[in-house]
Amino acid sequence: MKFKSVTVHPRLSDRNFVRDFDRYTLAEQSPKFSDYRQGKRHLFITSKKGGLFHICASLDPRYICCSTHVISHISNCPFECTYCFLQNYLTDTTLTVVADTDAIVEEIFHKTSLQPWRLFRIGTWELGDSLAIEPLNQFAIDLVSRFKSLDNCLLKLRTKGSAVEPLLDVEHGGKTVISWTVNPPEVIKREEIGTASLEKRIQAMEKVARAGYPIGLHFDPMIVFNGWETAYEDLVDAIFSVIEPENVIWISIGSLRFNPEMKKKIENNYPASKITAQEMVLGDDNKFRYPRPLREEMYSLLLSFLKAAGAEQCFVYLCMERWNVWERVFGRCPRSIGHLDYLMAKTVHERFPNSAPQSPPKDLYMALTY
Ligand code: SF4
Repeated sequence: MKFKSVTVHPRLSDRNFVRDFDRYTLAEQSPKFSDYRQGKRHLFITSKKGGLFHICASLDPRYICCSTHVISHISNCPFECTYCFLQNYLTDTTLTVVADTDAIVEEIFHKTSLQPWRLFRIGTWELGDSLAIEPLNQFAIDLVSRFKSLDNCLLKLRTKGSAVEPLLDVEHGGKTVISWTVNPPEVIKREEIGTASLEKRIQAMEKVARAGYPIGLHFDPMIVFNGWETAYEDLVDAIFSVIEPENVIWISIGSLRFNPEMKKKIENNYPASKITAQEMVLGDDNKFRYPRPLREEMYSLLLSFLKAAGAEQCFVYLCMERWNVWERVFGRCPRSIGHLDYLMAKTVHERFPNSAPQSPPKDLYMALTY
């Protein structure tokens, strides 16, 4: 990825990763782009100002959410997924990265030490892709190294790329999960522009699995198109013909969703996309989704493919769905968001003891309020 401009905050000018850029300008302020696609080509590396650690902004108590935490230090992304909510979210669209590892880890340590009994799953992908900006993957390495000693935290890097080489020799202690969003090649080609092919993503998964990292898989957003059923079956087969289920820590499933204002933006930004042509219904969180019977069919079918591929042992959960959809798909559902948080901590502790050494106290998780 070649950027049209790179701006670096003077406080970070001595960092190693800055030397990887041929040319850059020193400035304290973002160059501030407003056009979403234009902003992706201009990088601003800056230092930390306010708090960056918080619970995922999508958490909505009307749905069962996985209550992941995030560090929102990346804003915008060089990839161009047609369904990306950022096109309707960012005001300054400059691709911005807060690259102060020490200050970020200090904030995380301070906040997570208030609940030492809890396993904090902490993603770096809320407003971007964790590994898409290759020159900055040195910064991801620093985070991986630092998380090794944060007992009750798991770092979650999530990507649609394949640039994992720099991470392979890092001592991670099992405290970092590297995750991929996965979709059939037809969807990647048309709707996930600029991202790594499925083949490259699977090759990257194989490499990180060999380096001992737990892998996360996100079949989200599932997208309907002619022949989607076979395409998702082939997708599951392609992954699990290479990756052993015991290396997969969790699998999430979700389907396409976006709010009404985004429909026009998708059509303007990506006229070749087909995703707005399907029938969708508006939920009371103001998001369009496929009608419920179709979503249940999609999730149930995918679940059957995962079972057939031997991935039953992996913890599978739905993203942003209600209790009744869980019941239809799994025949059971967590009693609350805190219960799902507990179930995830329990499965990690049991299957990946290095990642979560302490047994989670159920009563404390069940008492969490959101
Ligand atoms: S990879 Fe994620 S952040 Fe980047 S464009 Fe796609 S959906 Fe948006």
